[in-house]
Amino acid sequence: MALALIAVLIVVLCVLGYAGAPGWTWGVAAGVTLAAATAAGRLAAGSGAALIALTAAVTLLLSLPALRRRLVSDRVLRVFRGIMPPMSETEAEAINAGTVWWDGELFSGSPNWSRLRGFPTPELSAEEQSFLDRECEELCGMVSEWQTTHHHYDMSPEAWQFIKDKGFLGMIIPRRYGGKEFSAIAHSAVVQKLSTRSSTAAVSVMVPNSLGPAELLLHYGTEEQKNYYLPRLARGLEIPCFGLTNPHAGSDAAAIPDRAVVARGMWQGKEVLGMRVTWEKRYITLGPVSTLLGLAFRLYDPQHLLGDKEDIGITCALVPTDTPGVHIGRRHLPLNAAFQNGPNWGNDVFMPLDWIIGGPKMAGQGWRMLMESLAAGRSISLPSSNVGMAKLAVRATGAYARVRRQFKTSIGRFEGVEEALTRMGGNLYMIDAARRMTAGAVDLGERPSVLSAIAKYHVTERARQIVIDAMDVLGGKGICLGPGNFLGRVYQQLPVSITVEGANILTRSLIIFGQGAIRCHPFVLKEMTAARDPDLRQASVVFDAALWGHIRFALKNGIRAFVMGLTGSHWVSLPAWVPAETRRYYQQVTRFSAAFAFLSDVSMIVLGAGLKRREKLSARLGDILSLMYLVSCALKRYEDEGRQAADAPLLHWGIWDAMFKAQNAFEGVISNYPNRLAAWLLRRVIFPLGRPYVVPSDKLGHEVARLLIERSPTRDRLTAGMYIPTDENDAVGAVEAALAAAGEADAIEQKLRAAERTRPAGARSAADPIESALQSGLLSRGEAEKLDRARQLADRVIKVDDFPQDFGLWDALQDLQRAASAGERVAA
Ligand SMILES: Cc1cc2nc3c(=O)[nH]c(=O)nc-3n(C[C@H](O)[C@H](O)[C@H](O)COP(=O)(O)OP(=O)(O)OC[C@H]3O[C@@H](n4cnc5c(N)ncnc54)[C@H](O)[C@@H]3O)c2cc1C
Repeated sequence: MALALIAVLIVVLCVLGYAGAPGWTWGVAAGVTLAAATAAGRLAAGSGAALIALTAAVTLLLSLPALRRRLVSDRVLRVFRGIMPPMSETEAEAINAGTVWWDGELFSGSPNWSRLRGFPTPELSAEEQSFLDRECEELCGMVSEWQTTHHHYDMSPEAWQFIKDKGFLGMIIPRRYGGKEFSAIAHSAVVQKLSTRSSTAAVSVMVPNSLGPAELLLHYGTEEQKNYYLPRLARGLEIPCFGLTNPHAGSDAAAIPDRAVVARGMWQGKEVLGMRVTWEKRYITLGPVSTLLGLAFRLYDPQHLLGDKEDIGITCALVPTDTPGVHIGRRHLPLNAAFQNGPNWGNDVFMPLDWIIGGPKMAGQGWRMLMESLAAGRSISLPSSNVGMAKLAVRATGAYARVRRQFKTSIGRFEGVEEALTRMGGNLYMIDAARRMTAGAVDLGERPSVLSAIAKYHVTERARQIVIDAMDVLGGKGICLGPGNFLGRVYQQLPVSITVEGANILTRSLIIFGQGAIRCHPFVLKEMTAARDPDLRQASVVFDAALWGHIRFALKNGIRAFVMGLTGSHWVSLPAWVPAETRRYYQQVTRFSAAFAFLSDVSMIVLGAGLKRREKLSARLGDILSLMYLVSCALKRYEDEGRQAADAPLLHWGIWDAMFKAQNAFEGVISNYPNRLAAWLLRRVIFPLGRPYVVPSDKLGHEVARLLIERSPTRDRLTAGMYIPTDENDAVGAVEAALAAAGEADAIEQKLRAAERTRPAGARSAADPIESALQSGLLSRGEAEKLDRARQLADRVIKVDDFPQDFGLWDALQDLQRAASAGERVAA
């Protein structure tokens, strides 16, 4: 009887916890159970009455906020204030920057799937589509990555002029300033398309539209600054760059030693209040050709010319690069990429305070400005450029795998190659989904700081995996550089994406969960803010509400994770629109979301401030959040595209892979937990019946790989938005044409091979088999021509480039000499 009552109580508490019932209902449930136990004689009347009275007192205490605060919450708040590590202003600004969007739902333990489905599908306007189809196509046709990176180390002057004239540099600038005012999804589509052709063109266009002078001016510039610079930037009359990185401050950018001192000085014949700036920047993209340098430095006012503060803080200014004392123009060579990138420096350069972005009142606000503006750019630039490179890799390599034959078989049909192709297809489906959804968030007015970090890290890592896989499939064809190699330069340059806009290791280990846990959690930021609030009364009220909300939240998620684990999440209720084919994914992510929220809370309690130093645990927690985001993006994409049945293998593979990895990340956190009792408890709560996910099946992988090596609407959707040259002499144009020709010649090829098989052994003929088949009447002339074309195109595709012994240096030298004697300036 007693056991039965305890069991009933546990079930009732689980139901109440699962439903998130208010605290007093727990007290009532416990009281009723105690009363039943007393009535049944399992508890002595006196003990039963005492326990019921105690339960009632605790329930009452916890239900009355004023009492609860005095007796419990204020005491916890005092401990909290004592142990909370100090947070610098720059750290606080980074954490507070940006907005919380779908990441908040993933942190809630119970994502609202109808909200996800209701986010509008990102669409291009007619004008944006036309820009992609015309100007963007034309620019792609004008640039050759091989010429750019091998011969000229820059784009041609014509391509540069086209970029400026057609407004590529002003995509984010409003029309009233002469810009294009494109949506985020259009901006993303442009960068993506250019990246499928030339990283040099893509980066040169991407940077002025990302975090830099235009973005900062738009949000913080004075009217005068906006009216002067924005039209000039939109028309390409100014080439902008932004200098933050110093040799001594890369990842730890807030620690830049570049400094400025407020001082009086002569400016255009008059004495004005200005600043003397000393800086040393490196790695600055577009720096060597820039006319307008956005500069970040720390401003000091030792003579108190501006006010009381001596250390004013990080400040951003716009500096024309022809200002005396600005040293600019030398270049780095980032892995043979030819986009302009280099150092710049200045020593004690005097400039007026008006050059501060937003004017003197924004002095010291630079870090906040940078952090607030980072999310939008980071949501677009690298996700889009990397998806572009991945699309090129998947489309061209898939075609190559069909056309290239070894052992009388297309290499793409071998299981080993299939495995690489499968990863390529599945990963591309996922990262393109993430690109669209994250750009879509920006179009909804969000500045998703955590999601942009997730998109940056996971898209670039998966793009790197796609390109590495593609290189393996291409074999020697990918390795020998030259105009016929469509992937070698992409492979070389991918580490650039890994390093910039938050180097990936740092982003994964420190930012995604570190910022996510504070920003996206429904209560943690409120608790932290209250703990720092000097107004004790206000802090007490806010902290009390947050603390008890937090406790209920953690209990609810723990119970939900446990119940969903026991029931395999089959009972998770979903909106009616969810189709049967994806139903289990929505249920499983709901389960993982509750488990993740619970694990995060337990980790914050067990590890406290130490979690910040336990980067490996923080990285794995971030992986769980990120993988749930990728799965959400893929599910959203599947809905937005009208549940394309033919694309389903890509979706299924991508989700199984992501869920398996998320499960491993859970395991990675739990098995490395410093507190073994907590680890034991967590494993029982999160995986009560063991781990549900296994790797995606080989059968599914086979279906994915097949989609990459044949022409189909699915392949077109997977690589949509790419530049596909029609010139069969172009490396990508040739492989595309070869795949089409191979498809058309397939049946004819089989007929010929069947005939060859019937020929007696040892009776191989030296004659051209197509010609013989034509002569013997096996093939019609039309068939022979189709077969011949397919074979010729395949020959062109498998060829690699070769060069003279000196790689053409002698010829180039002679060209230079000829040009020098004719008084010309030569790019080569
Ligand atoms: C081609 C290129 C273009 C660039 N363009 C610009 C530009 O236009 N403007 C600009 O201002 N800057 C630019 N940068 C600078 C870029 O943002 C920095 O390279 C980046 O911030 C990393 O700094 P770092 O290279 O000095 O690496 P470091 O800071 O030395 O880091 C080295 C490694 O340590 C890791 N690491 C560092 N701290 C931590 C930590 N706490 N936890 C875990 N891992 C950590 C990093 O992830 C990285 O893997 C560019 C860089 C390159 C290479």
